Amino acid sequence: MKSFVVHSVLAALLLIGAAWAQVPQAPPYPAPDDRYKADILVIVAHPDDDMAAAPYVARAMDQGKRAAVIFCTRGNSGSNYVGNEQAASLGAIREVEGRRAEAALGVYNVWFLNGSDTPGQDVLHSLEAWGHGTALDQVVRLVRLTRPEVILTWLPDYVAGENHDDHQAAGVLATEAFDLAGDSLAFPEQVEAPRDRLHISNYGEGLHPWQPQKIYYFTDASHEEFVQGKGPEYRTDEISSSQHISYGQITYNAWMHDKSQIGPEFSEATVKEYLARPMRYIFGKSVVGGSTTGDILENVKPEGVPWAPVVGHHAVAGPGEGLQLGGPWAFYRDFWPQHNLDHLAKLLAPETAMGTADFHLWVPLILRNTSGSAEQVTLRSALPTGWTEAPGPMVYNLAAHESRPVSLFLVAPQSQKGSWQTLTFNAEAGGRSVGAVTLKANVVFNGVPQ
Ligand SMILES: [Zn+2]
Repeated sequence: MKSFVVHSVLAALLLIGAAWAQVPQAPPYPAPDDRYKADILVIVAHPDDDMAAAPYVARAMDQGKRAAVIFCTRGNSGSNYVGNEQAASLGAIREVEGRRAEAALGVYNVWFLNGSDTPGQDVLHSLEAWGHGTALDQVVRLVRLTRPEVILTWLPDYVAGENHDDHQAAGVLATEAFDLAGDSLAFPEQVEAPRDRLHISNYGEGLHPWQPQKIYYFTDASHEEFVQGKGPEYRTDEISSSQHISYGQITYNAWMHDKSQIGPEFSEATVKEYLARPMRYIFGKSVVGGSTTGDILENVKPEGVPWAPVVGHHAVAGPGEGLQLGGPWAFYRDFWPQHNLDHLAKLLAPETAMGTADFHLWVPLILRNTSGSAEQVTLRSALPTGWTEAPGPMVYNLAAHESRPVSLFLVAPQSQKGSWQTLTFNAEAGGRSVGAVTLKANVVFNGVPQ
């Protein structure tokens, strides 16, 4: 009896062992495609914007880092200093110029989104023209594909200078993608595993959530003093260990591929003068710590970091805020804290420059009744001598807690060309001030229509 039990147990074990031996090994699961991994992802608006980051990118590549670039448009609205090709044809040319310029730096992973070049200064116009949701979907996808530790992009702010709304929009999309790419619920179809990648018609893009670690900004403001000390800066006259010329010269050589954009104002001397300046960055944020002015790659963890959900909040207007700047200024007032970028609110006092050569200026304001009863609010401007305005002082009837956007159109005298002027706007109700706004205006043409 005893030996029968022993034999039965042995037989069962042998059967199980045989069945176990017949289970095949699962094939290895493919890792993310390493050919597209980037340490640094540059997100800009137009071909040639990438040159603002090129001296740093060339330096990082000497350290064995990899870079990739996203252009949100093909630069289809610009002038052409080579031939007659315009609009979509110019975009087709500039795409190739942009690819050649990046190839000269050794960067081959370059993507162009479908945004149309939208010359102006209001970031919301560009986001509207590009299709904000579609563009963000694309940027998040490329962040997940390239898995960068660091994103370099345009400053999301309204400045006096070129202040191109497309530049600002690229910075907005990059910032939003920084916060979304690590969230598996943001564009979840991108991170769904395909059912069988070796067959056709798969759904699920097979990417993985990815949390970038640091984001830095550069600016097209005409004045640079506010950038100093707000982030790292890099000399451009240092010599590349791989190419034995300066990083400025490497950038110059790459830039010359953007030939359709190099007009007479971009003489060799002008470009080299621009490139002789140190390249300054503004620290955006980091999920791995590090100092404001420390190296861009300081504290970066090559193995990646877990999703770092943003804890942002919306600003809420309180008493005394019965008058605020509207339009793009109102957008940024909410955008920065929402993305843990509160310090950007302190970077610059509100400033602007003229919209066109006739020195006109659009000033969007928001009148707000913060009280619980109806109010008559009087809006008055205090303008420098010689300025004119439309519609001029007015009384607005506001219901309890009502907000109302108001657009003022100002014209500066030509005699003040080249100067900075201070514009003040005051709101009064029942003989008391309910809010005041100050805007500094540089009486020069910004470079793109307002
Ligand atoms: Zn540009």
